[in-house]
Amino acid sequence: MPKPRSRKFTLSPVDFRNSPIAGRGVFARQRFAPGDVITPYAPKQRKVPADSAEAIAAADTKLTLLSERVFVIIPDTDVPGGWLTNHSCNPNAALYSSGDGRIQCIRPILPGQEVTIFYGWVTRNEPGRDPCLCGAPACRKTINFDVTDDDARAYQTATPEGDALRARLDEYAAFLTSIDQTQVLATIEATLIEMHQAPEAPL
Ligand SMILES: [Zn+2]
Repeated sequence: MPKPRSRKFTLSPVDFRNSPIAGRGVFARQRFAPGDVITPYAPKQRKVPADSAEAIAAADTKLTLLSERVFVIIPDTDVPGGWLTNHSCNPNAALYSSGDGRIQCIRPILPGQEVTIFYGWVTRNEPGRDPCLCGAPACRKTINFDVTDDDARAYQTATPEGDALRARLDEYAAFLTSIDQTQVLATIEATLIEMHQAPEAPL
């Protein structure tokens, strides 16, 4: 019977090290093919109810992940994981928030390449909050999609403001489709509905 291969020869599939995009990033140590799970979002994490004070307070870290609409995953940042993945406007991977959250390959990735995802952040009254330094030819220059209070009020209304927001969203949807990130649209839609229902931004 062959001896099981010793674990000490197993390389981690990714490295966490300094990135030319920002801070620490995630780098492949092996080839990945579309569909491969690259790394868990947070190997060590807490999962708390989405409406808990802890979840709301942790949102400021920009690292929390809404899972199955009811839980928020809070990564333990002492343990590196997919939460270190940088944003790109032409990413090679995608973030999925179901279960414990994971980073999954969408384009072939070679050893040494940085793994990137599309954050899909929606901000309110904070245009230009998150400048993008991804370097992709079609970089959008900002990571966040900003919605003003007026936009939130006009969402899905037959008004000039509603039409203008719809045109921006259609353009964004076409862009997301062109980079295989259509899963981001559901998050944006859910956020817009929430903003529309609470049209005054909290102080
Ligand atoms: Zn960019």
